[in-house]
Amino acid sequence: MKSDVYLREIFFKLLSFDSESFKEKQLAEIIASELSTIGFDVFFDPVPASEGNNTVNLRAIYRSGEKAILFSAHLDTVVSTAGLKIDVEGNIVRSSGNTILGADDKAGIAAILAGSKSAIERGFLPVSIEILLTSAEEKGLWGARFVKKEDLISRYGFVLDGEGSVGTMVLSAPFHEKIEARFKGKAAHAGVNAKDGRSAIVAMSKAIGTVKTGYIEEGLTANIGIVSGGTAMNIVPEEAYYIGEVRSEDEKRLNDTIEKYRTACQKACKETGVEFSFKQERLYDGYRFSKNDEMVKNAMKVFESLKIKPTLVKTMGGSDANILNAKGFKVINIGIGCGNPHTKEEWADLRELERAARFVEKMIFRASEFI
Ligand SMILES: [Zn+2]
Repeated sequence: MKSDVYLREIFFKLLSFDSESFKEKQLAEIIASELSTIGFDVFFDPVPASEGNNTVNLRAIYRSGEKAILFSAHLDTVVSTAGLKIDVEGNIVRSSGNTILGADDKAGIAAILAGSKSAIERGFLPVSIEILLTSAEEKGLWGARFVKKEDLISRYGFVLDGEGSVGTMVLSAPFHEKIEARFKGKAAHAGVNAKDGRSAIVAMSKAIGTVKTGYIEEGLTANIGIVSGGTAMNIVPEEAYYIGEVRSEDEKRLNDTIEKYRTACQKACKETGVEFSFKQERLYDGYRFSKNDEMVKNAMKVFESLKIKPTLVKTMGGSDANILNAKGFKVINIGIGCGNPHTKEEWADLRELERAARFVEKMIFRASEFI
């Protein structure tokens, strides 16, 4: 079968299976049988799910030598695609509007499958191919957290889940931390004994009002996404809280910014006689590659050989690449040429898919240059 025919066929097949986060098992089984046919050994690694029914990461290897190159994508879609009807206009694939398309990240999976298949059909491979398809990526990069480094031979590779056209390489992604501040004042009748009250909402507002939010500077953002407090119009509010986040290209600015948020709470509470507690939680670590990195240079050469212009970008979003890099892999997220993810207007471009598959195929033959 011609490789682009296979690519289209497998892409549409993947789209036809619903794989909302934590409900990826059926899709994983379909892909597993596809991979076995191509010649891969396939493994299902259990991933605990918060909703009780466990899910899996799919891991596969096509053995050809001691070294291996890794390609990764995620199995889940951000919401269900049940009832998806597909519109194809030329090379553009869309949902007819009732659901998202789910090209995020089935386009990535299709490119990995098709690219590996054509590489294997070309003959002797200089390295083994490892494929890692994670679950619940859309739920805070959940599945990737359960990947065991020792289960994989490869240490270098690519995540096919990036923004932008094929050729885009995300060389830097941020550190990301959740913050939560809880304020405890003293309730009182808002009219009769207002003097006895200490408003948690006032303390919280002061704490928020004195810090920068939104875009702070290049590579540093912060957001207060949720505020809540009080129980009634005529009660001085005893409790209030906010939940927010900070993202930074580097850990120092991340920590400094969070410290500013904490200090602002401290100051506001001192002024208002309110108490507070402050929690922070690392969601994922950032990563950064130099453009002189051997893997980056080789990937650029592969793109150039395919007449694709390499574009090196930074992002302020997270992906499985963040989790895998923190585990000691060296992986770069690359663009797959889809658009409007997480919306009903999501689209994929079959020509871009074809380019992504060619990248996978060629990279397999070049990987021994840097692994
Ligand atoms: Zn994705």
